[in-house]
Amino acid sequence: MSLSDSLLQRARQVIPGGVNSPVRAFNAVQGNPPFIQAGKGCWMNDVDGNKLLDLIGSWGPMILGHAHPKVIEEIQKTASMGTSFGAPTEAEVLFAEEMCEAHPCLDMVRLCSSGTEATMHAVRLARGYTGKEYLIKIDGCYHGAHDAMLVKAGSGVATFAEPGSPGIPKAVAALTLTAPFNDVDIIRQHLKNHSVAGVILEAVPGNMGCIVPNDGYFKQLRELCDEYGALLIIDEVMTGFRLAKGGACERFDIDADLVALGKVVGGGLPLAAFGGRRDIMSKLSPLGPVYQAGTLSGNPLAVAAGRATLRLLNDEFYKRLEHISEEIERRIVPILKEYGCSFARVGSMFTIFFRASPPQNFTEVLECDFEAFGAFHRHALNQGLYFPPSQYEAVFLGIEMGSEEIEWLEKGVKKALKATFDC
Ligand code: PMP
Repeated sequence: MSLSDSLLQRARQVIPGGVNSPVRAFNAVQGNPPFIQAGKGCWMNDVDGNKLLDLIGSWGPMILGHAHPKVIEEIQKTASMGTSFGAPTEAEVLFAEEMCEAHPCLDMVRLCSSGTEATMHAVRLARGYTGKEYLIKIDGCYHGAHDAMLVKAGSGVATFAEPGSPGIPKAVAALTLTAPFNDVDIIRQHLKNHSVAGVILEAVPGNMGCIVPNDGYFKQLRELCDEYGALLIIDEVMTGFRLAKGGACERFDIDADLVALGKVVGGGLPLAAFGGRRDIMSKLSPLGPVYQAGTLSGNPLAVAAGRATLRLLNDEFYKRLEHISEEIERRIVPILKEYGCSFARVGSMFTIFFRASPPQNFTEVLECDFEAFGAFHRHALNQGLYFPPSQYEAVFLGIEMGSEEIEWLEKGVKKALKATFDC
């Protein structure tokens, strides 16, 4: 038995399912997860000595690759001065200034520790600001594991085929209305029929696989929100500081009222944020009545890792990452076509769909061949490729992908597809 498998057996005795977050369990691909020992750049080593090309990057944060020397140095330097104070620090101020400077929709920002918290607080703030109770979310978008957002959510919730989750009061779920991505008709109806505080969405959904937004979609959403007095909340936990320095809002020229950030902004440490218009953010405690708090919010180590990461993200960086991503698309799309698969990409996020054309929304994602995806995933892992273990997830590329890695990816995908379909 491999060391990973024996660790999984032990883990299952003391951690539900053996993992600290469900998708890591590889249930959707009928496999067992390798246990990771270390990472450098875009490579990881598992405890059995296998070398894996990491196509997840910790589900988004590791845009610089693992163990980037500048990030590690800042974390070490900061750690030597103390790891948590629960009191204000200068670095938090500088960080907030840097974030507001970088993102077109941020006048003010509040730090927290996870994407779940960021969207949870953003929707409470939207409700507190507007005095309305309904929320609209998009089918297949995932905004973290809190009650209001676990309704028709993507990612792990979709992976496990649960429409929501037991434990969420029906009365709470009833306040979350849903609508398909890339379409505004149902959103318009909801806005007409209910008192809606906010419309929340991933501008580029990554939690039902990567879905490309239609032209004009965000402008229509903005207009509808204005017409009905609802806030437009863009969840940039995946896209923030990834699709551009100003995230999806910069890339697609979105005028959001509130934005949730996570992943890249924390440089691989537990940090997230939400922010937006000054008048809305001014309703937050202690300035205003909407309560929100966190013991480890603005944690010095996380702030140090986030700032060190953001410092390296300039125009040149994004150009290079786009070039890497385009090159990967150019190399693997012809292979995918041979096997009737499709490919969707926005910047450094992409998904291989086991379906002839890329889906436009969650209903179309459900038409994928999930069995073939599972087989592909297992074969790809044998080729040293660590793809996300679910059709409902996106690949996140990092800047360290060079020609050796792209070659490894191309060869591995070719062999894994052949093994999936030719036997
Ligand atoms: N929003 C989006 C778009 C996400 O992808 C995620 C996590 N994958 C979250 C929110 C929740 O973030 P976290 O896992 O840090 O709580």
